[in-house]
Amino acid sequence: MNFNVITKGAVNLALKRYMGPFWFRRRWLNKTQYLPKEQLEQIQLECLRKLLVHSYKTIPFYHDLMNQYHFNPEIKDVKEIEKLPILTKKNILEAGEKILSSKYPKFTSSIGLTGGTTGTPLRIQRNFSSVETEHAFVRRQWDWAGLSLKDRTAFLSGRRIISPDQETGKLYAYDPFMKELILSNYHLCPQNVRQFAEAIIKYKVSSIAGYPSSIFYFAQICEDLGCQVKLKAALTTSETLADYMRATIERVFGCKVFDFYGAAERVCYIFTCEHGNYHILPEYGLTELIPQSDHMAGSYKIIATGFWNWAMPLIRYDTGDVLELSDKSCSCGRNFQTVKRINGRTGTFIQTPSGKKYSPTLMARVSKMSHNILQVQIIQDRIDHILVTYIPNSKFTQDDLKEFQKNMRDYLPSELSIDFKETDSVIKTESGKTNLIVSQL
Ligand SMILES: [Zn+2]
Repeated sequence: MNFNVITKGAVNLALKRYMGPFWFRRRWLNKTQYLPKEQLEQIQLECLRKLLVHSYKTIPFYHDLMNQYHFNPEIKDVKEIEKLPILTKKNILEAGEKILSSKYPKFTSSIGLTGGTTGTPLRIQRNFSSVETEHAFVRRQWDWAGLSLKDRTAFLSGRRIISPDQETGKLYAYDPFMKELILSNYHLCPQNVRQFAEAIIKYKVSSIAGYPSSIFYFAQICEDLGCQVKLKAALTTSETLADYMRATIERVFGCKVFDFYGAAERVCYIFTCEHGNYHILPEYGLTELIPQSDHMAGSYKIIATGFWNWAMPLIRYDTGDVLELSDKSCSCGRNFQTVKRINGRTGTFIQTPSGKKYSPTLMARVSKMSHNILQVQIIQDRIDHILVTYIPNSKFTQDDLKEFQKNMRDYLPSELSIDFKETDSVIKTESGKTNLIVSQL
C-alpha cells in the first residue's frame, strides 16, 4: 500500500467532488450539451459578462486595463471583448499579485503550474469551486467515452510515486478513492510492462489515461510481448496525438481513443465525442480563433478566456497553440464547433547548418517507417550532428537496423552527420513527457 497515494486520493475526492459545485455542475453540463446554438451563445454571454464585471471590481490588473482601454465590462455582445488586448504569458508574469482577485484569499485557493516546456512555468491560483467545475467537465468527457464514476482507470502520466532509481518491487500504486491505478511512467520499459499489465487485470481497470506517447509505447510493448489488455477506452492528453498512435492503441487495447486538449491555464477545452470528432466546449470558456498567416490557410491561433477560475481569470489569453477547423458537422447531436486537428506547441525542431528545420511530426513519420523499434529519440548536440537513440523490441535484427539507418539518412541532408545508439531508456522532461527531439544546442 502506498499511503501517500491513498491520502492524496482522499483529499482529491473531497476537493473535486464534495466541497463545491461538482454534482450541480455535472447535472447542468449533462443538459447544456444538447442545447441549441442560440442558448449556448446566451450562456457564453452571461458567463463572460459576470467574469468581466468580477475582474473589474476585484482585480487591480484588469481594473487598470479596462480603464485604460475605456472598456465597459457590462457587455451586450461577446465580440466586445476584442477591444481588450491579447494577454501573453509575459504579461501575466509581470502583473504578479495584481492579477489575483481580492475576493479569494490564498487559503481558499490551490495552485497549479503550467507545463513550462518553454521558459518559466506560470503559477495559476485557482479557487476551490473552479477545481470542482473543472472536474465536472473532465467527467463529462469520460461519460462520452462510456466510463461511469464506478469505472477504474490506469494512469500513465507525470505523477511520480516512487524513486526513479527503484528497479524492483511494485512500480504502481492504487488509489481506491479516485479509483485510479497509477503506473510509474518513469519506469515504462519492456522489462516492467508485464507488471503493469498484471496490475491492470488485478484491479479490474477498464480504461487508461495519460500522455499519448506513453500509452502508445505501452501498447507497442504489450503487443510485442503478447500481453492481453482489453479496455473500454483510452483517454489521451497533453501532447499531440498522431494518427499512427491512435491506430496502435485502438488495435492493441480493443477500444476507442478519446483525446482532449486543455492546459493548466484552463481557458479552453477541446474534447473528442463518441463519433471521434473534436469539439470546442462552449460552456468552458470563450475561444477566439485568429487566422494564421496566408501560407497556413485554415489554421487558427487559440486565444481563450476561461469562465470558471475567478481567483485568477485569464482574459484573451494567448495559448500559443494552433488548430485547424473542420467544415463537417457531427452527428452526435451537440451544437459545438468541430475541430479537425490541434497542433500543440510546435516544440523542438532539428536544425541544420544551412537553416533547414524538421518538425517532431516530420521526424516521427521518418522514424516510424522502420520495423521492430519501440521508441526513438533524436538528440541534437551540435548544429551539424544528431545522435539517434532507439529502443528495439525482441524481434529486432541487424537488417532492421540497416533499414532504420537508411531511412534516417535518406530523409535528412548530408550536412547533418548521424550516429545511432541502442538504449534502454530515453530522456524525459521534468513532468515525465517524452519528446521525440531533444535539442542541446
Ligand atoms: Zn460530436
